[in-house]
Amino acid sequence: LPTEFQQAKPIIDTIEAAGYEAYFVGGSVRDTILGKPIHDVDIATSAFPAEVKGLFKRTVDTGIEHGTVMILDHGQGYETTTFRTESGYQDFRRPDQVTFVRSLKEDLKRRDFTINALAMRADGEVIDLFDGLADLQAGVLRAVGVAEDRFHEDALRMMRAVRFASQLGFTIEADTQQAITDNAALLTKIAVERTRVEWEKLLMGQQPVRGLQALVATDLYRYMPQMAAQHAMLTQLIALPAWHLPTIESTWTLLAWLMKLPDGAAIRQLLKAWKTSNELIDHVVAAWTALNALQQHGELQPMALFKTGLAALTTANTVATILGFGQPQAKLTAAYTALPIQDKRDLALNGGDLIKQKIVTPGPQMGQILAQLLTAVVTGQVANEPQALTELARMVADTKND
Ligand code: ATP
Ligand code: MG
Repeated sequence: LPTEFQQAKPIIDTIEAAGYEAYFVGGSVRDTILGKPIHDVDIATSAFPAEVKGLFKRTVDTGIEHGTVMILDHGQGYETTTFRTESGYQDFRRPDQVTFVRSLKEDLKRRDFTINALAMRADGEVIDLFDGLADLQAGVLRAVGVAEDRFHEDALRMMRAVRFASQLGFTIEADTQQAITDNAALLTKIAVERTRVEWEKLLMGQQPVRGLQALVATDLYRYMPQMAAQHAMLTQLIALPAWHLPTIESTWTLLAWLMKLPDGAAIRQLLKAWKTSNELIDHVVAAWTALNALQQHGELQPMALFKTGLAALTTANTVATILGFGQPQAKLTAAYTALPIQDKRDLALNGGDLIKQKIVTPGPQMGQILAQLLTAVVTGQVANEPQALTELARMVADTKND
């Protein structure tokens, strides 16, 4: 058993000692069997939420209406969910009703793929009611039950299928893949944010081409925001020499590049449609701008380095490397570190100083002068010292007043 399971074992033991069943379930069981690191330990139990809460001193109702209670233990939180069935799914995304049940089998039946429907006892014994082990062995993603029905219930599962294909390098079983093809349009029922999470995980996976090929073969991509016309772009992405995207920022920068978007405004529009954060948008626009410079000149001028910032610069170079025109990262980092200042606030003279010295009155001119000082310092035309900057500011102000 991995350490994470060993640490969580007392929780299962406590629930069992009270006469209920409890198992490790979900991705952590799948990843343990695959020998991969696990991130979150999920526990499923026959105990109802109130019963779970009665057994432990410290719990948090993280999702009690769905049966999920978090148990806090030696600084760790363990999500414990009561066995449940789901029904309704009028809207192709959420069950209208969840019902708590006492049967593990009922709970495993509602899970998406056979490899995600395995349970493990605290002693390591695997409960495999849907032949998930064989599929895990063969590298196959197969819907639990009738694939068509399962994607009707929850269309996000189609995105999860292509995402797991990428993360695990698995093949989607034929009936399951056919059902995705037949129901791809249902993806539009899913909140963009949820689709986005799967899309980003797909692109950051170990074998993204697997996921992308499935996305193209099933036409699922057509129902993702702003992607309907991107067949050629996806084909190009699939054809790139082996690549790995380490961050969310790098995924969007590469996509924006391959989509041949004309400018930052077009990137903003794309990312707005995907409902990303403004922070991500700013980063991607900066990285995309730097990427253009890297392609054209193989380097960035000091002011461009300054404006890009080290984080977006690293993103740009990661993507440039995938595209075949990357630089040694150490070289770019050194160029950035060698800038006289890395932040506006490091300028040795500020607006307050300009006013005190009576060089300028508050207003737009002040900003213009500070911008000129900044450029002069970053490009090495003047030392970043109060005196030198005061002199330069006077000169600039004088020319402006002439
Ligand atoms: P990850 O490694 O990304 O966490 P995971 O399989 O653990 O993958 P989670 O979203 O954490 O994915 O979900 C935990 C488990 O809950 C899954 O393994 C699966 O059994 C079940 N599950 C999650 N989402 C769905 C869904 N949309 N439909 C059916 N079952 C689901
Ligand atoms: Mg998980």
